[in-house]
Amino acid sequence: MATEHSRRLFFALWPEESIAERIAAATALHERAAGGRAIPPRKLHLTLAFLGSVAASRLPCVRAAAGALRGAPFELLLCRVEHWARPRILALAPAESPPALAALVADLWRALAACAYEPETRPFRAHLTLAREARPPRGVRLEIDPIAWQVRELCLTESITDPRGARYERLQSWPLAHDNLGAPASPNAL
Ligand code: ATP
Ligand code: MG
Repeated sequence: MATEHSRRLFFALWPEESIAERIAAATALHERAAGGRAIPPRKLHLTLAFLGSVAASRLPCVRAAAGALRGAPFELLLCRVEHWARPRILALAPAESPPALAALVADLWRALAACAYEPETRPFRAHLTLAREARPPRGVRLEIDPIAWQVRELCLTESITDPRGARYERLQSWPLAHDNLGAPASPNAL
């Protein structure tokens, strides 16, 4: 019997090229100080939900889950360079995670439950990985001038293993549109 084809998938936010270039320029010194493997601008992304290996038969459910989301666009002010010791990454994070982002991640996992995916147990920490196998960067300020990123869509992405670092293919995007006006109010809404 043939084994079912599966793909390594995750939902992410992808900055447009101009924002990715600004991030790379603003963090070049940090990347140099941290060493390791810098992520090129075209690969910079913010992971919302990592699914891992997804069998082809489950893909329609995953797409439907994303399609049913009622999100809203929001702004991320990227300004904090962080070193995360355990995964040994250098990351760029927003000063504050806007409620719309937390709501998007929670809604996404709720929708994915219909496809039998379980939410992460770790709390979500919004970040873009800048470099891997990174040391703590010394002698550089960890604040950068805020880069305002207008987030307008989420994207289902495939990660293709490559010895030089994963390659990413964007499979489908969904706009975060203000189209939730007709949606029933949450029972918990005040
Ligand atoms: P590589 O593993 O080749 O260094 P990568 O980590 O970017 O590259 P993937 O492992 O396929 O590629 O991960 C894709 C995205 O999902 C990345 O943003 C990664 O940080 C994130 N990710 C990977 N594994 C997990 C996980 N177990 N939980 C949450 N996020 C994850
Ligand atoms: Mg990985």
